Amino acid sequence: MKPQTFAILKPNGRIVQGMILKQIKIAGFKVIREEVRTLDMEVLREHYAHHVDKPFFQPMADYLVSGSSILLILEREDDADPVRFLREMVGKTDPKKGEPGQIRHDFGVHHPTVIFMNAIHASDAGEVEEEIARFFPNHT
Ligand code: GDP
Ligand code: MG
Repeated sequence: MKPQTFAILKPNGRIVQGMILKQIKIAGFKVIREEVRTLDMEVLREHYAHHVDKPFFQPMADYLVSGSSILLILEREDDADPVRFLREMVGKTDPKKGEPGQIRHDFGVHHPTVIFMNAIHASDAGEVEEEIARFFPNHT
């Protein structure tokens, strides 16, 4: 099986989500699974376990349950590492610290208190298997 990565297009409306997905495909990713889903608090407490005690956790979770996300399992069309490739496209956690052309810079909110409105989650190295199992428990 080819290496995969996992991404969440955060709830920013279908037009923005569609533009981001189009960029991801144009960059050479193949969509293996695509599901529109409204996330719930339980899964967010697991997914962001490293942040549950931070002051921004509750506003972040409120934002993430506020509308439809698009969950994606992705592979590369070429032999590049999908995790590294997507993280590079996504850019830094804080949109305003990224470079123009990167997804979070271009589609995220540039404001100090809402860093979590950064358009997309992309698995980091070592996180893919656990995150796919969490969000797509029937995926083999
Ligand atoms: P990522 O791997 O780049 O997404 O960053 P982390 O795993 O460290 O954090 C997960 C998510 O928590 C980020 O994508 C942001 O949505 C949010 N986040 C992280 N740090 C901050 C912060 O300092 N302030 C706020 N408001 N949100 C943050
Ligand atoms: Mg992370």
